[in-house]
Amino acid sequence: MQKITVAKGDGIGPEIMDATLSIMKAAGARVEYDMIEVGEKVYLAGNTSGIEKAAWDSIRTNKVFLKAPITTPQGGGYKSLNVTMRKSLGLYANVRPCKSFHPFVSTKHPTMDVVIIRENEEDLYAGIEHQQTDEVVQCLKLITRPGCEKIVRYAFEYAKLYKRKKVSCFTKDNIMKHTDGLFHQVFNEIAAEYPDIKSDNWIVDIGAARMADTPEIFDVVVMPNLYGDIISDITAQISGSVGLAGTANIGESCAMFEAIHGSAPDISGQNIANPTGLIKASILLLNHIGQPDVAENIKNAWSCVIEKGIHTKDIYKEGTSRELVGTREFAAAVVAHLGQKPSKLQSTEFAKGVSFTMPKYVRKPRSKKVLKGVDVFVDWPGADANELAGKLKNLDSDIRLSMITNRGVKVWPEGFSETFCTDHWRCRFEVAKDQSTSPSSIVNILSQAITADVEVIKTENLYEFDGVRGYSLGQGQ
Ligand code: NAD
Repeated sequence: MQKITVAKGDGIGPEIMDATLSIMKAAGARVEYDMIEVGEKVYLAGNTSGIEKAAWDSIRTNKVFLKAPITTPQGGGYKSLNVTMRKSLGLYANVRPCKSFHPFVSTKHPTMDVVIIRENEEDLYAGIEHQQTDEVVQCLKLITRPGCEKIVRYAFEYAKLYKRKKVSCFTKDNIMKHTDGLFHQVFNEIAAEYPDIKSDNWIVDIGAARMADTPEIFDVVVMPNLYGDIISDITAQISGSVGLAGTANIGESCAMFEAIHGSAPDISGQNIANPTGLIKASILLLNHIGQPDVAENIKNAWSCVIEKGIHTKDIYKEGTSRELVGTREFAAAVVAHLGQKPSKLQSTEFAKGVSFTMPKYVRKPRSKKVLKGVDVFVDWPGADANELAGKLKNLDSDIRLSMITNRGVKVWPEGFSETFCTDHWRCRFEVAKDQSTSPSSIVNILSQAITADVEVIKTENLYEFDGVRGYSLGQGQ
């Protein structure tokens, strides 16, 4: 018997959770439940995180959490509980299997069977944002080597375990050469360790277009957080409906399982919600805790019900469906089909011993890091870059003004009059080639800039790592 933490959530949450737990019980899941309250009630009681300490304790003790959707109250000040949980519990891998159930659930992609593996902790979701000038706000995109290694290795281990043939990587490294470039580079390094699994790389824009058009060409797809957020919803939707997908959030010690849809307040309390997303989440959970026999039984019973045309309102279609049922009746139908295998949909066999152990991240030896200069960001309401350059180009230092950009585009020296400029300027100071500088030179430059009435708002040091430039060039440089 394994104890797991369960939250019934808000809106349709309690209905679909009751349905799911009734199926798990009937299927003989060897679990007991620790019920907690998260979401709307907790938010409205004044806790802006949506979760109390006792609930955290339960999740951290049991390490496995089945969560129904919650309602995030409208208005500012409430932090997303999902993002808080993923980051606080180190749930680095978000896994979303998206398979079509043709011809029983309408889809334009009858043979698609894709698993999206989304990095879940970093990227633009680091949530580090600042307003720097009247006109400019900034969000930091953080991509780390341990983050990339963990998620990419997870994708290949997942593919190996579930006998998947190919892992694809989606990035935008033609533009973000350092952040997405690192993700791509780590993907190539780790792919080489799995010669039996095919691998390929896609620029995310054309990759997303092909996913929407011909998802059959993809198998397992791994990507950074924001692309994964968007593309996994699209992939679930084109497989039939976002209402049919469950998701696993996996960390080194804890895991959280949920449906991908929200709390659907518009249909709550009416016994019409489709509990499939949460049932799928429970199947992922049972596999995760080493009960693939129970997971398989529920999955096959669910497939029987779907192929017999016993459908909830969201997927009911005249002609294909046979019987319109409510949430409770759908769950009862799944229970009635436990022990049976579908005759038309593919029956599921989960590998025994389904878990895999991820190696601990091993930090590489530190690189030789050389300071080459500094980017000084300034708030300046002027319009002519030559005027700003005039204030900064003759400062007394070993680092010299080499370039000014506005929104990344070079505007000095030799800028174009057509380039639109805001009040946010980056002034790059660099040493001569083959030279290095020191932090005190940077402090000296800042002090002279401030004396020259230039409002410095931020600096970024420019480094080389083992002789390789660790910063981007200006657009047009
Ligand atoms: P939603 O997914 O709740 O609903 C979108 C539409 O899909 C609605 O018309 C709804 O009736 C329908 N729908 C959703 N699930 C269904 C199901 N199982 N069966 C039948 N129909 C279903 O999205 P929303 O309306 O944008 O969000 C409602 C609330 O849910 C918001 O407070 C949002 O913050 C929250 N939310 C929570 C989670 C989560 O807890 N993981 C995820 C997304 C949204």
